[in-house]
Amino acid sequence: MTSDELNAVYDLPYTRLPHPRYKGRRIPAYEMIRHSITIHRGCFGGCAFCTISAHQGKQIVSRSKKSILKEAEAITRMEDFKGYITDLGGPSANMYGLNGRDKNVCAKCKRPACLHPKVCPNLNTDLTPLVDLYRSVGKVPGVKKISIGSGIRYDIMQYRDPDAKADKSHRTYTEELISKHVGGRLKVAPEHTQDHVLDLMRKPPFSRFEDFKKTFDRINRECGLNQQLIPYFISSHPGCTEEDMAQLAIITKRLNFRLEQVQDFTPTPMTLSTEIFYTGINPYTMKPVYSARTDREKQAQQQFFFWYDPARRNSLIAELRRIGRSDLIPKLFHP
Ligand code: SF4
Repeated sequence: MTSDELNAVYDLPYTRLPHPRYKGRRIPAYEMIRHSITIHRGCFGGCAFCTISAHQGKQIVSRSKKSILKEAEAITRMEDFKGYITDLGGPSANMYGLNGRDKNVCAKCKRPACLHPKVCPNLNTDLTPLVDLYRSVGKVPGVKKISIGSGIRYDIMQYRDPDAKADKSHRTYTEELISKHVGGRLKVAPEHTQDHVLDLMRKPPFSRFEDFKKTFDRINRECGLNQQLIPYFISSHPGCTEEDMAQLAIITKRLNFRLEQVQDFTPTPMTLSTEIFYTGINPYTMKPVYSARTDREKQAQQQFFFWYDPARRNSLIAELRRIGRSDLIPKLFHP
């Protein structure tokens, strides 16, 4: 799909209403999206467990600013609009307008991810068009605030791009995002704390999340804001053991998180993670990889997310003893 085709799809005269069969019923998903705008398709993150690049492609196709502004104006005319745009997003909110610098290199590229294991030097990471878009939508009469509801990739914002303009745009975007466009809670997806699991997931090391949290806390302090960072995590991903989950619990406890946005790995067609889960082998190294498979093994991992729940304490202590890591009990249950 080209940008023009994408614009043409979004320029159609949608009612922006649920199907009439839902008349009078409250639809939570609709509440979330009715004042939000999709600004691009595709994702070059290449997370090993995710199918978005298989559905939408690795190359980002962005809508024009004109098309997005037209939709923003349409939203301001909605009867229930109170001035708050709840998302300018896509699979990852901050990939708008980003593509390879040399398209010929991209056309021959076999990398599944442009960000992992390192940011590709051919990737244009200039967030200036996105900053400009937020500012422009913010000037549409009737818009009081734009919050970003889609998840963001902090590794793009942290990348030191040799191109000075792109590099500067990362700092501008980070400051404006955190100071102006967080609707109380900002979603990010470190997905795990253990780097060997993160590497299998094709995610950046956990230290990047800790660095981002410091930036988030600093900007909040400077702006007198009390906003929350909401990290997403996965248990039972191939390569993850109960000991890894115990470490995840200890580390997130140290960072003062009580996790809510968590999920247990579910094999999904067309992903590397599912191939590893199914075969028990990492196809890149041909080495065996452990995966939790039984309900018991999966539950044993997942319960570590909820270390703060007194009802799970005895079970977690028993599990730590069973895996020979009684030494972690005081770290999890004592200050
Ligand atoms: S060459 Fe780089 S920017 Fe282009 S698709 Fe490959 S990894 Fe992505």
